[in-house]
Amino acid sequence: MENTFEKIWSNCLMIIKDIVEWQHFKTWFEPIQPVALKENVLTIQVPSQFFYEYIEEHYINLLAKTLKRELGKDARLEYRIMVDSGNGKSKPLTMDVSGQSFKSYSNNEMDFPLVINNHVKNPFVIPGLKKMQIDSQLNPIYTFEAFVEGDCNRVARRAGKTVAEKPGSTSFNPLVVYGGVGLGKTHLVQAIGNEVKRLNPNKVVLYVSSEKFINQFQDHSRNNAINDFIHFYQLIDVLILDDVQFFNRAEKTQDAFFAIFNHLHQSGKQLILSSDKPPKDLEGLQERLLSRFRWGLSADLQVPDYETRIEILEKKMKNNGLDLPKDVVKYIAYNIQNNVRELEGALISLLAQSSLNKREIDLELAKKVLRNFIKTSSKEITIDTIQKMVCEFFDLPYDRLLHKTRKREIVQARQITMYLAKIFTKNSLKTIGEHFGGRDHTTVIHSCQTVKDLMDTDNLFRESVMELQQKVQLAAM
Ligand code: ADP
Ligand code: MG
Repeated sequence: MENTFEKIWSNCLMIIKDIVEWQHFKTWFEPIQPVALKENVLTIQVPSQFFYEYIEEHYINLLAKTLKRELGKDARLEYRIMVDSGNGKSKPLTMDVSGQSFKSYSNNEMDFPLVINNHVKNPFVIPGLKKMQIDSQLNPIYTFEAFVEGDCNRVARRAGKTVAEKPGSTSFNPLVVYGGVGLGKTHLVQAIGNEVKRLNPNKVVLYVSSEKFINQFQDHSRNNAINDFIHFYQLIDVLILDDVQFFNRAEKTQDAFFAIFNHLHQSGKQLILSSDKPPKDLEGLQERLLSRFRWGLSADLQVPDYETRIEILEKKMKNNGLDLPKDVVKYIAYNIQNNVRELEGALISLLAQSSLNKREIDLELAKKVLRNFIKTSSKEITIDTIQKMVCEFFDLPYDRLLHKTRKREIVQARQITMYLAKIFTKNSLKTIGEHFGGRDHTTVIHSCQTVKDLMDTDNLFRESVMELQQKVQLAAM
């Protein structure tokens, strides 16, 4: 009774729940049902083909690990895909497929050290491979091609490109990429690694997170093998260390990294680091390390602007063979502003929801799904914001809008702005007037009336106002 498929699956879920973000867990794991267990093969039922592909692409590593804990190293996963859920009378139609990518994930983790070169223990090498066949630990989807350039990342992206073309021989050594959560640090540093490999397959590239680096170091230190550890890292041509802020107070690890850094730098090898803050603000890092970080270039990643967010979404859609209505894309880009990962998450949730409920993706669905992502569901929109949006829309300099002028297009733009401010803000007519160079409330009333009248008689005018209105509406949601 112990090893029923339900029990096995619920054990897996307990682990997965701790690792996967809540929203993703709900989206991708809750709808899964375990359906059978035959020896070492667990079959799970998933709601659609898309679901199956998504899980295979994104969670297979995690599933492999958790399932192997339960069923041993030969564990396998099979899927039952719902093709049609039936209508109560007819049985649901399903299709069984076996997990594709399960086998390739197993032993490139540090728990499988291997002696190479007779003395250096390589924490990464897959058993059976020879020296220098070091798995780079890079995710091939992180390329430059897939990394949209914008004002927010131009310097970092271009520096990365330069480094990838001439690793170790530019002044960008080390290259430090820093920025907040979900802004593309991992993507960018991995893109550099992938590009080096593409241009120069013989270069030994290694990507490692700082957490893993620390763990490996501590393992080796327990086994009195610190020298092996350092020697191994000294073999690398391009070393990419992600999230170096985790070195915070790991003194011994920092000592080891200092030795590795110096050796690599002196031998003309490339170092690429990422962190969540500019190096000068990193706490708990030794000054001697920080001063070396300053030898090269530090470049930051900032929050992408609206246009770049649209482009990123479009790129992700293209790469996944998806097509969403333009208003949905705009809606997502308007509402998710601070974090590219969330932007992507919103897109994915939307896809999952539409696939789950067999429903077309439209603005309505998008609003429903994004409610989970948008923390403050209704933003306070200000007169200022509306003024800026109108100016942008009509390509007017901001101060012209407030000018005393009888130029028709400016007068109209101002009237439209007042009209929108009346609709979308809670300000009194008096306050609105004050925001337009101290006009009084009767001017505001008159403006609103004029806009309404014009909308009734002038199609072009109406279209402009409607479009603007939609923009403000989106920004206010
Ligand atoms: P960080 O490491 O800074 O937390 P990631 O590199 O993991 O962020 O990026 C989060 C997600 O956002 C990734 O899926 C990444 O592909 C995507 N992303 C970030 N910036 C861009 C960009 N400029 N173009 C395309 N995708 C991006
Ligand atoms: Mg990262």
